[in-house]
Amino acid sequence: MSRTDHYAVFGHPIKHSKSPSIHQLFAKQTQQHLIYTAHEVKQESFYSAVVDFFDQGGKGLNCTIPLKKLAWQRAELLSKRAQLSKAVNTLYLQKDGVLFGDNTDGVGLITDLIKNHAIALLNSRILILGAGGASSGIIAPLLNESPAYIIIANRTVDKAKTLSNEFSKEGEISGCGYNDLKKSQFDLIINATSTSLYGKLPPLPELLLAKSGCCYDLAYGNLPTVFVNWGIKQDAKKSLDGLGMLVEQAAEAFFVWRGVRPKTEDIIKQLSAERNKLVG
Ligand code: NAP
Repeated sequence: MSRTDHYAVFGHPIKHSKSPSIHQLFAKQTQQHLIYTAHEVKQESFYSAVVDFFDQGGKGLNCTIPLKKLAWQRAELLSKRAQLSKAVNTLYLQKDGVLFGDNTDGVGLITDLIKNHAIALLNSRILILGAGGASSGIIAPLLNESPAYIIIANRTVDKAKTLSNEFSKEGEISGCGYNDLKKSQFDLIINATSTSLYGKLPPLPELLLAKSGCCYDLAYGNLPTVFVNWGIKQDAKKSLDGLGMLVEQAAEAFFVWRGVRPKTEDIIKQLSAERNKLVG
């Protein structure tokens, strides 16, 4: 009998991760045999943990906060979207022993925004909060949808400016600090900071969201995140968290690893229903 293939996610913190349940649901739906585990891995032990995982026969890895830049540096071959984003969330060892890195975050977000939630991006004014690994993974796919422009705001302003410069050939984009946002309005505000994980909100001015604008938090939890609640308070047309993106980026990683594309709609519904039950 063949050995069960082992996949995993590395990150810190990782306790909240729903990736193991999602991949088990994909495996059941597509009748693939695999196990998927979550591991607390800090930056300083990332490289040795990757080597150990693949030495022990592991087939594929997801990397999450704060490891995506390191995974990009560690990969020996990169997909086009990983090259562009300079961040990797999906790794696997090719048959020739070369470590391949991909980034499925962008396609996950775009699928959730457009296909699952019918949020139009064409000519829209988009604000991205945060300039870390997640932010760099979503910029090129967002620019590809021809928005009017994208502004990246970050606590460390230089990081926002550097990131926007990296993508300036792909479309209209600039970087700034939170103080520079006064008087601006956006049709879509995406929270790509890690603040929701700590129950905090970046310092956002009032009147930032245009009428009928939408808010999207890449973070997710059993309860609405602080940013989702902020969006509701701003009267957003839709204020969503990143559960849909999580399932969509996982489906793309599953496809990269297994060559089979799982159907996501029922799984997103099931996970939403489960968390609604949890919070009563
Ligand atoms: P990261 O690389 O560590 O970047 C964190 C970002 O948050 C940086 O821009 C950082 O600003 C900012 N930040 C942290 N604390 C802050 C504070 N107190 N005030 C203002 N800004 C603060 O993390 P990441 O990998 O980009 O992940 C970001 C978020 O996206 C996480 O919540 C992650 O769970 C989520 N995510 C979700 C999905 C999904 O599928 N739904 C996929 C990817 C990521 P500085 O640069 O100034 O430090």
